[in-house]
Amino acid sequence: MIIVLLGPPGAGKGTQGERLALRLGLPKIATGDVLRGAVKAGTPLGLEAKAFMDRGDLVPDAVILGIMKEALNAPENARGAILDGVVRTVPQAEGLQAALAELGKPLGAVLNFDIADGEIVSRISGRTVCDACQVPYSGKVPGDECEKHDGGRLVRRKDDEPEAVQRRLDVYRAQTAPVLTWYTAAGAPVKTIDAVGTLEQVEARALAALGR
Ligand code: ADP
Repeated sequence: MIIVLLGPPGAGKGTQGERLALRLGLPKIATGDVLRGAVKAGTPLGLEAKAFMDRGDLVPDAVILGIMKEALNAPENARGAILDGVVRTVPQAEGLQAALAELGKPLGAVLNFDIADGEIVSRISGRTVCDACQVPYSGKVPGDECEKHDGGRLVRRKDDEPEAVQRRLDVYRAQTAPVLTWYTAAGAPVKTIDAVGTLEQVEARALAALGR
């Protein structure tokens, strides 16, 4: 089953995607993590993506479509996957639909994480991530140790600085919000869930929306 996670930055897609992946026994694919990994490793993909990401802009569609197709064709994702932030523009949604049709895989659900802007800004300004495994934390400071990864240190992502956050919200509104309209018009199984609440509450809503 392919599950697409949609929602603004800071809506909790990464955290909930991780939990859903465990619950449903599916791998999670996050383009943000793939790109950050490439930046860290200094690969050509990373070199191309870095400037866009640091500003809070989207990486070009062609780059994302390449990552998307490679992931869908990987044997470990044959049973399906949870796609976290993989679809952020209408051309990307069209590209995913074409790729799934080619592989004969159905789109199981589009989970839309709904959250107000004010909540996003306060969440992101308090967020750190492990520089090794990318797990996000709230209420911890840069320099703390990651609880899930030996030797991992918590850092603030460059695109979590206030200016880049504002840019990401603007980009979300201009380029990603239309994806929701597109999926709805295409008759896709879109489920909107309230992304404000405890981790357990939001997870329960997501599972209920998936009929679990
Ligand atoms: P968030 O969802 O909180 O913005 P991510 O970690 O998912 O953060 O993504 C970080 C950055 O990676 C994005 O701001 C963007 O520059 C790039 N990126 C990730 N996925 C995509 C995508 N599907 N299309 C274009 N750019 C992307």
